[in-house]
Amino acid sequence: MNESYIILGKKIVTVSDRGTIENGGLVVNKGKIQEIGDWKTLKQRYAAMSIIDCSEYVITPSLVDCHTHLLEFAPSSLYPVSHTTHLWAGKTILFHALSSGITALGEQICGHPNNHFSIEDYRKAVADLPMDISFAAASITIGFPEPLHFSAVTRSQPIEKKHLSDPSLLRKLAEQSEFPGENLFINATPANFTAEAVPRAGELMYSFQELQRAADTYHQLNKKIGVHVAGEEGIELAIKAGIDVLHHAHEITDEQIEKAASRQLKIVATPLGGTHLPPNSPEEIVKLAEKNIAVSIATDAYLPSYPGVSWLPFDTNVLRGPDVLMLIAQPAMKRMKEKKFDENAILAILTANPAEVLGKEKEFGRLEKGMDANFIVSTGIPGLEITEAEQIKKVFFQGTEVINRLV
Ligand SMILES: [Zn+2]
Repeated sequence: MNESYIILGKKIVTVSDRGTIENGGLVVNKGKIQEIGDWKTLKQRYAAMSIIDCSEYVITPSLVDCHTHLLEFAPSSLYPVSHTTHLWAGKTILFHALSSGITALGEQICGHPNNHFSIEDYRKAVADLPMDISFAAASITIGFPEPLHFSAVTRSQPIEKKHLSDPSLLRKLAEQSEFPGENLFINATPANFTAEAVPRAGELMYSFQELQRAADTYHQLNKKIGVHVAGEEGIELAIKAGIDVLHHAHEITDEQIEKAASRQLKIVATPLGGTHLPPNSPEEIVKLAEKNIAVSIATDAYLPSYPGVSWLPFDTNVLRGPDVLMLIAQPAMKRMKEKKFDENAILAILTANPAEVLGKEKEFGRLEKGMDANFIVSTGIPGLEITEAEQIKKVFFQGTEVINRLV
């Protein structure tokens, strides 16, 4: 691949102020977008540059899944791994995400009873891969009859409930976190267990004072804090305590949507599931967007889909991965289209908005001069018009082609 080239598309959905450019071109130089605009103008200005002709296809920013558990939990959920092969399986899973058009991930590291890797081990394992992976250090409570607590700092060693609010643990988690993922679980999680196995899923794990102190700890280090939360009571605590990012926010009320909007909170919707309550409906996601909340859709993969949910076409017993990101986003994206949202604003929920959650909004998520050349070539707008990985023909990461289905 040349260091610099122009790529031509039938249309470019930039997710920037430029909106959609018909018969557009993208000038890529040394991994960055050097220029973007009308194809005819660019062709004249850069006459000597090599051309990649994708004029039958749509070019958009590549996708960002800002809430995943691909490296810590997924390997042993999907494969019969040992300690030696765990990270290898993890990389296979990352490749699978990349082939689905995702070039950036927000990974959660929560501590895991059966593996003792540190967040640093995960970071090192993926450092050379052509993807942008941000890590959030978290503590977690699983709602067994006797709830179990873990943290990224203490790894496979369970901790006591009172340690969830321990100032030194909170400080270490904050220091190790690169972005506001689900740093704390306000509610105990069902994880991937059936309801019978985790009767205490949903129980609140923090008092208001404890949460407020946790938020202060992050803010004193100039970091934002995100939480796993669902249900009116937990969401109320999170908003009042000064949490920056609500992950899931299942069953958020209309009044709370107003409050979240006025405080400019970010919300990461997970329509596949992930908490003790029914996940975000397409209507709820549209409501958030209508209030100008920067809502992202994420998979929380790997996850079984929440049972009995009308907008999910899945068998509930199968674990779903990042390959369903477009599919689970489509109902909300289509509804936004009916409500006359621009296609750029619609696509932002899989690109620019999650990039902002990761704190990488100046690097990727939009196609704009000076940003990383992370983009995909596909038969339609991801999520809105297409839902299958096979419809994504090429994926580029920092200017380099990393996935190619046009052979
Ligand atoms: Zn999660």
